[in-house]
Amino acid sequence: MIKVAINGYGTIGKRVADAVSKQKDMQIVGVVKRTPDYVSRIAADKHKLYVSEESGLKAFEESGIKVHGTVGDLLDDCDIVVDSTPEGMGDKNKELYKKHHVKAIFQGGEKPTVGEASFNAYANFEEARGKEFVRVVSCNTTALMRSLFPIYSELGIRKVNVTLVRRGTDPNDHKKGPMNAIEPSFSFPSHHASDAKTIIRDLNIDSMALKVPTTLMHTHVVLLDLEKEASSNDVLDIWGRYNRIKLFNSKDGYKSTAQIMDFARELGRDRSDLFELAIWKDSAHVNSSTLSYIQAVHQESIVVPENVDAIRAMTSETGKEESIKMTDSTLGIA
Ligand code: NAD
Repeated sequence: MIKVAINGYGTIGKRVADAVSKQKDMQIVGVVKRTPDYVSRIAADKHKLYVSEESGLKAFEESGIKVHGTVGDLLDDCDIVVDSTPEGMGDKNKELYKKHHVKAIFQGGEKPTVGEASFNAYANFEEARGKEFVRVVSCNTTALMRSLFPIYSELGIRKVNVTLVRRGTDPNDHKKGPMNAIEPSFSFPSHHASDAKTIIRDLNIDSMALKVPTTLMHTHVVLLDLEKEASSNDVLDIWGRYNRIKLFNSKDGYKSTAQIMDFARELGRDRSDLFELAIWKDSAHVNSSTLSYIQAVHQESIVVPENVDAIRAMTSETGKEESIKMTDSTLGIA
């Protein structure tokens, strides 16, 4: 059994903890929280809870939430830690992991240099093999890799232009926004293009981004120039071979992200997660050599299967296809 610790039990951390608990070859040995809030109470019911700083122990004791020690104690008892602390803490935490000789997976909010490799299960599983430090790319980059890698590997891509319409914040947050505005990113290309190249290095891609007042999903409008001739049906057939892509038809009533997430609620999964990338099949058109399509990303959960596969790539000899199959079957991705 691969012993996995979770440092940072928020949107991503709690989902990865539950997904790891469903795997036959891995177990959660503990999760780390900083403050004794309702999330800590829920975490303590499910897992062994540890505190990020010794100075925080007293507050947990006073609130009656049982803890088993500090993050250092947990790191001495695991094979790998999934760092899902707020973005920007990765470099500092990496020093702690080195001190305890523990492998670590970081999330997409960290700089690419935090890891020896960036990771996407379909595109570069083997690059994480045996590594000490790996970064699972962000929800947006994971989504781009899901739809672009199959096209890149089967048809070839000359150039991608993508406009990312980003959700303002996650549903559990009341502080970030925008609330009644559309906020463009003024750097060109937005950081998403260079992030995509940490996975497919020779991808010719530009990106622009806007933030909008919604919490459900990100949406991407993609235009790309194909190397080989193909029809929109050829493209749909290619995507159809990948379980982590789900095709939706607007004619079935999927007119917006609202209906896609309503469908996700009907699936009966934990937290109504949609691990799959959603692509509107009737948005996919090929005009001459240009493929255009629109996709939507459940930002809270799309990176969860990737974290599970990254754990296997770094700590076991399980192959790419086998790992993806194990992860997908346990998470209900079919
Ligand atoms: P979050 O704020 O929901 O969760 C972070 C958790 O870490 C919180 O529970 C917080 O209390 C805890 N924490 C704070 N300081 C800590 C410390 N010193 N030690 C241990 N825990 C501490 O954040 P999130 O949305 O889960 O994001 C985590 C990472 O995942 C970021 O890099 C982010 O960019 C990335 N990511 C987020 C999303 C998303 O949509 N939320 C999607 C993909 C990737």
